[in-house]
Amino acid sequence: MAGPGGSALIDLHTHSIFSDGSDTPEALVLAGAAAGLRALALTDHDTLGGLERFLAMQPAVATRLVPGIELSCRFLGRPLHVLGLFVDPGEPRLVARVADMGRRRLERNQRMLERLRERAIPITWAEVAAQAPTELISRTHFARALVHRGAAGSPQDAFLRLIGDDGPCFVPFQELTPEEAARWIREAGGVAVVAHPGRSFPRGFRWDEAMRALQAQGIQGFEAYYPDYGPQEQRYFLELAAGLDLVPCGGSDYHGDNKPGQALGVGRGGLHVPDAILDRLEALRPPRPAYTDPEI
Ligand code: AMP
Ligand code: MN
Ligand code: MN
Ligand code: MN
Repeated sequence: MAGPGGSALIDLHTHSIFSDGSDTPEALVLAGAAAGLRALALTDHDTLGGLERFLAMQPAVATRLVPGIELSCRFLGRPLHVLGLFVDPGEPRLVARVADMGRRRLERNQRMLERLRERAIPITWAEVAAQAPTELISRTHFARALVHRGAAGSPQDAFLRLIGDDGPCFVPFQELTPEEAARWIREAGGVAVVAHPGRSFPRGFRWDEAMRALQAQGIQGFEAYYPDYGPQEQRYFLELAAGLDLVPCGGSDYHGDNKPGQALGVGRGGLHVPDAILDRLEALRPPRPAYTDPEI
């Protein structure tokens, strides 16, 4: 499908049931192909779980399927997400590191249950797990369980009053630095880009300085295209990427029915990530060193 300037659509940021999306990897690929995408990345939060099924669909579609992951990090005391594009889902160090993150996430989830119980919301593990189609349990599933038991009026209400980044029952589950994330990604053959910088920090945050620091830590690009950005914000991030020679990436952050109104490729309708981005990312993929070190 051609967009402005004749460039085909690509989408480098999507989720499946393996994190907090509602589509199976197969359904996601078929929807991407039906939308005419030239390339589609699956970037579930902190898991490689959906990638085998995702990549197995490649022969069925003309859309180029890009394996990815969205790693939860902390930067300057706030959550920051780092996307790894083109990671090898079987790379042993990344597999072990992500499994370790999964264990820390489980512990964090238990502590969030305790915090909710302290606030007289006696929600159980089983209630939260019942909202998750796969083993990864995120705050999205907490939010749904809280609505289900009547402790919140809507998922948004749950995030606002209880489990959002500034909420009383939120517990961060690890302290992965962007530098670690970039290294994990690079060592697995991928390219590291910061997800939705405009959404992660308060308005007025000095992204020019921060992005320079992140670049020095191994970050190679960031999302300059994102459905929630206004035209001014997009222009700001495009200029920042050009000035620092970082790749201006982007995607819809599609979560299927779990984030309504957000369509593959086009977001809320106006998103258009130029397909030339793909070639720039490709050129940054590291040569794969032989695997030697079993340490994580
Ligand atoms: P977790 O990785 O378990 O800490 O959960 C993070 C996920 O929760 C994010 O990726 C979003 O999908 C969701 N989330 C976080 N904050 C909000 C919010 N304020 N409103 C809606 N969803 C949110
Ligand atoms: Mn999410
Ligand atoms: Mn994110
Ligand atoms: Mn995402």
